[in-house]
Amino acid sequence: MDADVLIVGAGPTGLMLARELGLAGVRTLVLDRLPQPSETPKAGGLSGQILQLLRYRGVLERFEAARTAPSPPLRLPFRLPFGGMHVDFTPLAVPPMELLPLPQPLLERVLAELALELGAEIRRGREVVGLSQDDATVTADVRGSDGADRVTARYLVGCDGSNSRVRDLAGIPFPGITYAEVQRLAVVTVPDSVTVLDNGDIDVAGVGRISFGFTRTEGGEFALGSTKPELMGLYTSEDETADYDDDEPMTVTELRDSIRRVLGVDLPLGEPTRLTRFTFHDRLAERYRDGRILLAGDAAHLFPAPGVALNAGLIDTVNLAWKLAAAVHGWAPAGLLDTYHDERHLAGERTLLHTRAQVALRRGHDAAAEALRELFQELMADEQPLRRIGALIAGTDIRYPIPNPNDHPLTGTFAPDLTLRTDQGAGSVSELLHTARPVLLDLANRADLREIARDWQHRVDIHTAGTDDRPADALLIRPDAHIAWAATIDEPTAAAAVALREALSGWFGTPLKATVPIIDRPS
Ligand SMILES: Cc1cc2nc3c(=O)[nH]c(=O)nc-3n(C[C@H](O)[C@H](O)[C@H](O)COP(=O)(O)OP(=O)(O)OC[C@H]3O[C@@H](n4cnc5c(N)ncnc54)[C@H](O)[C@@H]3O)c2cc1C
Repeated sequence: MDADVLIVGAGPTGLMLARELGLAGVRTLVLDRLPQPSETPKAGGLSGQILQLLRYRGVLERFEAARTAPSPPLRLPFRLPFGGMHVDFTPLAVPPMELLPLPQPLLERVLAELALELGAEIRRGREVVGLSQDDATVTADVRGSDGADRVTARYLVGCDGSNSRVRDLAGIPFPGITYAEVQRLAVVTVPDSVTVLDNGDIDVAGVGRISFGFTRTEGGEFALGSTKPELMGLYTSEDETADYDDDEPMTVTELRDSIRRVLGVDLPLGEPTRLTRFTFHDRLAERYRDGRILLAGDAAHLFPAPGVALNAGLIDTVNLAWKLAAAVHGWAPAGLLDTYHDERHLAGERTLLHTRAQVALRRGHDAAAEALRELFQELMADEQPLRRIGALIAGTDIRYPIPNPNDHPLTGTFAPDLTLRTDQGAGSVSELLHTARPVLLDLANRADLREIARDWQHRVDIHTAGTDDRPADALLIRPDAHIAWAATIDEPTAAAAVALREALSGWFGTPLKATVPIIDRPS
């Protein structure tokens, strides 16, 4: 056996998975067909729930420190593109999401360092070209410049991007839509002939004024934005059927031609700091698992809107890693690994819902489409729908399927980062999850519940703490920071004990004492 888990693809998803598996003590081997890490500046940063998760792991500072430009570590998004418009979160005192601008090559560098520190092995220039699996192992045929070999592991995860060979070899369908549309994104310095006005519009010598935000024309869409006063963010979208390779760089000439076709003007461009393009797809793998083969990241889903793909892919890995580790270490309760598909496919459907809705909002050019956009903007002036859209984009509104409809309302949701008072001083939920071990958090000095959890203390950490306005008497938190079970305030021992035992054995396997009945994962 070459590894416990073979990860195909050393992009953001594969590297994050390698670190999460490393935290759980699993031996990983990561293979990538490219001889060197890609320098293509695809995503411009991280956003949404993954930032909270990285804080829970205690590594967010590593990503902040990797940024070359001195700017505030986390930016609260004031205006976020959504369906060819901007959603303005500035009226909210507590915004529903954060952003961490960080070019993808830098992001991948940090993720690779974190994975290597926990023992992952990364081999580059190795392409997976064949797969087979039996009851105990999965074997990959690998091709490299120095010849071919075979690698065997207990499980294999395809983190090999949108054209996933693993997905094809496993025979997993990838249904969805490809839109005959190419989007181009660029950031360039502001040339001398352009003046940036106070409201974000630009005045171009010999051309006139061009508005901040989205402009629709017969030729397509153009958008002007800015991350800094000295930079112009530019975007075009045109109906095109050409099939581009996302890794093939876009040139300034290609961008200039596209702007001319859409806006009808020659826009002077300064020095580019980012030049990228992509074709638009929405796709969701039919299954995230086939026996010992699993999919994560772009291999599992493609969403037709910017700013959501990385969040979705990295959260996939956090959900998967501890379950895969349980299977590798031999204590996974029945059905545990299948909950990866159940939970993350559901999350993928939710993301597809809003990204597809954005396509409908954005692409219409007639009066009815204008009316739809106007109505949407009107709704976004109110706090509640604004929060709801923010949570959708951030992926924080997802509640994983719960075993019992009467479960505590927190079950299946992401654990809030409560401030905790302990004998050792102040703390927080996020600090308890640095090691990615499950936690029973007793918030009401419930010795009865702690006593039950003690039978699982080989797998579950037990903490007692006080907190203001406690949401529950106790929380059982999974390694991916989702709540597996919660006790209502003053819940009688008899009822709480049955449900807690069920949740502990359902999620974390056999107790230490053989006297406690073993229950399969709640279904
Ligand atoms: C222009 C552009 C802009 C984007 N902007 C954003 C954004 O702002 N926000 C956002 O969240 N997302 C954005 N994305 C999407 C984001 O880049 C992807 O979601 C992300 O790269 C997916 O990561 P991944 O690790 O799943 O796949 P990838 O990054 O595609 O990595 C897959 C890896 O697998 C390797 N591989 C493939 N096949 C094999 C094989 N057979 N054997 C071995 N290795 C293999 C590849 O070499 C690659 O390194 C953008 C994408 C593009 C193209």
